[in-house]
Amino acid sequence: MELGDGIHPTIDAAVAAARRAFNSYSEMGLETRRTLVDSMRSAMLREGERLAYMAAEETGIGRAEDKVVKNRLVTTKTPGPEDLEPQVVTGDAGMMITEYAPYGVIGSITPTTNPTSTIINNSIAMVSAGNAVVFNVHPNASLVSVENVKLLNRAIVAAGGPSDLVTAIPHPTLDSARDVMNHPDIPVLLVTGGPGVVKEALKTSKKAITAGPGNPPAVVDQTADVEAAGRDIVRGASFDNNVICTDEKTTIVVDSVADRLVQSMTANGAYRLKDHELKRLERVIFRETGPPNKPGMVNPDLIGKSAGRILSEIGINVDDDVRLVVAEVPREHNLVWTEQMMPVMPVVRVNNVDDAIDLAVRSEHGFRHTASIHSTNVDTITRMARAMNCSIFVANGPNFSGLGEGGEGFTSFSIASPTGEGLSRPRHFSRARRVSVVGALRIV
Ligand code: NAD
Repeated sequence: MELGDGIHPTIDAAVAAARRAFNSYSEMGLETRRTLVDSMRSAMLREGERLAYMAAEETGIGRAEDKVVKNRLVTTKTPGPEDLEPQVVTGDAGMMITEYAPYGVIGSITPTTNPTSTIINNSIAMVSAGNAVVFNVHPNASLVSVENVKLLNRAIVAAGGPSDLVTAIPHPTLDSARDVMNHPDIPVLLVTGGPGVVKEALKTSKKAITAGPGNPPAVVDQTADVEAAGRDIVRGASFDNNVICTDEKTTIVVDSVADRLVQSMTANGAYRLKDHELKRLERVIFRETGPPNKPGMVNPDLIGKSAGRILSEIGINVDDDVRLVVAEVPREHNLVWTEQMMPVMPVVRVNNVDDAIDLAVRSEHGFRHTASIHSTNVDTITRMARAMNCSIFVANGPNFSGLGEGGEGFTSFSIASPTGEGLSRPRHFSRARRVSVVGALRIV
C-alpha cells in the first residue's frame, strides 16, 4: 500500500505530520476553513458511492446501497464551521463572548460497521473545528479507510489546505490503537465501537469522547398507526443489515395490536419464522445463547449479513426483497437482550404500554443510546422518552430518522452516550474560550 496523501508508516509519524498540518492550518483563517470543508464535502459527494461499495466488499458487512445513503448523509448533514458561532452576552456589566478554539491533533478510533461514514463524519466535524486527526481504523476495513483518508487529503490540498490534516496508518492493530490512546501529542480521543474499546479509552488520562454500543428497543402501543409502524420498523431494522448502533434491535408490542403489526412487517419485506425454524436459527446465529434476560455471544461470521444469507444457513431460501427476519419470542429470550447486528428481529408481546416501556428500559442495559416508540398518545411518547433518557429517541419513524435521514436535524456517526455528548459535532472538538470586557462594549 502506498504511503503519502495522509498515510504514514507509524502512529508516531502520523501524529508528527498531523501536528505540522495543524500548525499551518492554524495560520490560515476561517474563510480557508470553510473552503476546505466545502471541498471535502464535494469530494465525498463524488466518491461516496464508490467508497460504500468498497466498504461492503472489504468488510463483508451490510448492504452497499445503504452505505451509499449513509455516506451521502454524513457528507451533507455533518455540521461545519458554522457550528462554532460565538455566543455573546451584553448587559450593565459589559460584554462577554465565548469562542471555540481547536484542541490540535485528535485521535479517532473507528468501527468496522460504518468505516467510511465514520471517517467522513469525524473528519468534517474535526477539521471544521480547526483540528487535525489521526485515525486508527478497524483492521478489517483498512483498505477502504486508507482510500477514504487519501481522498479527503487530496480534497483539502486541492482547496489550498495543508497535507496531513487527516491521517492514518496502513496496517492498524490493537497495539496501534493503544499508541493513539497514549500518545503525548494527542490531547483528545474520539472512540467509536463496542464496550471493550470504550473501556480502554476511559482508562487513559486524556479527555475521551466515547461512542459505545446500543440495543435500541422499538415500542408499539395500541394507539399507533400499526401498518406504518410495521413498515418503519422493517425499514429501520434492516438498514445496512442492522449493523448501525441506532438500528432497531427489539420490538415490544402491546398484545391487542401484535397480530396486525407482524402482518404489516411481513407485508413490508419481513420473513416470519415458525417456532421450529427459530430453534434452528438460534443455533447458527449464537455461539453461546447465555442465560435468560442476558445477552448471548453472536456468531461473528453472520454479523451484517443479509436476511436471505442468514436464512440460507438453515436451509430456507427467500427472494432478495426479504430484508428482515422476524420471530415472536418471550421477553427473556437472548435475542431481546443482545446487540445482534443482524437483520433478525425479536418481537415480544406485552399486556400494556407500561410493561412495554419497563422492558424497553431494562433490555437497553442503561446504554442510554437509542430508543423509539410508535404511538399517537403524546403522554405515552413523553413518558417513554423520559424513562429511556437516550441520546436519540424517535417517535413514529424508522430510527435512521433520528440520524437526520428522513428526519430533521444534523447527523453524526459517533453518538457519544457513555460520555454524554450525544450526536458529536464540531463544538465537541473545541475548547470554549470566554472573554469578558468589564463596563464596556454594550453599544446600545
Ligand atoms: P469494535 O469494538 O470491535 O471495534 C471498534 C474499534 O475499536 C476498531 O477500530 C477496533 O480495532 C478497536 N478496538 C477494539 N477493541 C479494542 C481494544 N481493546 N483496544 C483498542 N482498540 C480496540 O466494534 P465494531 O465491531 O467495529 O463496531 C460495532 C460496535 O460499535 C457495536 O457495539 C456498535 O454499537 C458500536 N458503534 C457505536 C456507534 C456510536 O455512534 N455510538 C457507532 C458505530 C458503532
